Amino acid sequence: MLGAMQHWELRVSGLIDHGAREHPTREIVTRMADGSTERTNWSGVRRDALKMAQALSRFGLKAQDRVATLAMNHNRHLVTWYGATGAGGVIHTINPRLFDEQLDYIVNHAEDRILIYDAVFRPIVERMKPRWKSVEQYICFDDGEFDAWIGAHDGDGEWVTGSERDPCMLCYTSGTTGNPKGVLYEHRSNILHTLYSIQPSAMSSDNRSVIMPVVPMFHANNWGFPWAAPAVGAKLVYCQTNDPVWLCELMREEGVNVVGGVPTVWFAIFQHLDASGQELPPIHTAMSGGSALPRSVIARLMAAGVRVGHAWGMTETSPVATMTYETPDWDEKSFDEKVAYKALQGRAGYGSQVRAVSLDDPTVELPRDGKTAGALQVRGHWTIQRYFKAEEDAAGPEGWFDTGDVALIHPDGSVQLTDRTKDVIKSGGEWISSVDLENAAVAHPDVAEAAAIGVPHPRWDERPILVVVRKQGCSVSGEDLSIFLADKVAKWWLPDAVEFVDEIPHTASGKISKKDLRDQFSGYILPA
Ligand code: ADP
Repeated sequence: MLGAMQHWELRVSGLIDHGAREHPTREIVTRMADGSTERTNWSGVRRDALKMAQALSRFGLKAQDRVATLAMNHNRHLVTWYGATGAGGVIHTINPRLFDEQLDYIVNHAEDRILIYDAVFRPIVERMKPRWKSVEQYICFDDGEFDAWIGAHDGDGEWVTGSERDPCMLCYTSGTTGNPKGVLYEHRSNILHTLYSIQPSAMSSDNRSVIMPVVPMFHANNWGFPWAAPAVGAKLVYCQTNDPVWLCELMREEGVNVVGGVPTVWFAIFQHLDASGQELPPIHTAMSGGSALPRSVIARLMAAGVRVGHAWGMTETSPVATMTYETPDWDEKSFDEKVAYKALQGRAGYGSQVRAVSLDDPTVELPRDGKTAGALQVRGHWTIQRYFKAEEDAAGPEGWFDTGDVALIHPDGSVQLTDRTKDVIKSGGEWISSVDLENAAVAHPDVAEAAAIGVPHPRWDERPILVVVRKQGCSVSGEDLSIFLADKVAKWWLPDAVEFVDEIPHTASGKISKKDLRDQFSGYILPA
């Protein structure tokens, strides 16, 4: 016997239908790169997406064909998310900061048929065109080209229907090792991620929310904001460039109360506020993920009365898997206790599970004792099973996916990331956390950026060295840093050498590239 309730396939078109029906006039505002402001609303986005679906059908798009975008955050990009998926296609958001080789690989691997781009990325398009064999049509979002393309249709159509398990979106990880890998989201996984993310304890969005996603739309499903906003009738505020002056201006002018950005966005915003002597605009929630949010930033946000939503996840988890949601005894906690809790990576919400297994023997699950670090694994309704076109599953038979992160889990379930599996330093049979070393080093007022890597050692297997970029005009020495670190990390963790450089290499998503750094320091001879 089956249950006797209605069954509707969970498809993302249902989100925009709801937004247009219940919240038709709720706005989507974009500050374009040229400084002009454009306004539409959920009813307008749906109408334009339907026009785009008609244009795609005219083009000959078939179910599951890929429609690529090379674009920053704006209203037309949002229309494209719903137009491509509503036409039965798969939207493939490309990170324009990738290197040519990666751009070549992913467009050919995805077999994108149409590519829609921002005018600022025209040089990339012109350069890559001869190598992008599958692309049959290029459309520019600007100069009226996109508007004319969809404007040839009346929007009087319907969404393509199908199974909730159909793919709807493709995002490639930046591939710090080997080729980028495609994560193929389904309609269903995106809807379930949406229902999770809109909870007050998660991204706190509701009908009163005015959300500014500073995280780019090409990154990790844009943290699910484009799907979540019409589900609750939130207003969206986009800025095509990530200029902190504009971001703060927009926050004030448009009444933004929820902001989603990676830590570097928060650094840039505070730098701007300090330089201009301004206060933080009156937001109520600051979402952050992608890399660890330092305690100093959390404390500053919280002191301004802002709820901090520090989350952990990855492209492979749609992306939000854990969140620092408030505990039952939240109101009794001291300020410092709250900051310490928010500095961890959070606890699993319903829909995702996490565990840590031994780095030496992955069949051994580690206790949640807040002490034993291991390989972090995740599974759930919006976790990857298999990379696009891969022959083998990425997750095990019980769904556990190896995240590549090293973490310990506290008794309350809070995950604390200590490293990436490839980056931990093994010295004398014990593990040293490169992240802890780096966090301790960047707390020094003269240090702009620091990265710890292991270099081969005849006796200890590996020993850590610290690579440091000094702040401009500062002259901190290696010895000063060693003294500074002495009471912050275990003695045997202290780096054997400190090397000063002008720049540390970064990946396309702005994270430190340990792989490139290790290459740079291959053959490094430790001081005797
Ligand atoms: P990419 O691999 O392209 O940089 P992802 O966004 O998928 O893109 O990266 C996911 C990784 O980012 C995680 O595996 C983890 O190492 C790191 N990460 C994400 N959120 C946090 C966080 N809150 N604190 C520390 N690291 C994080």
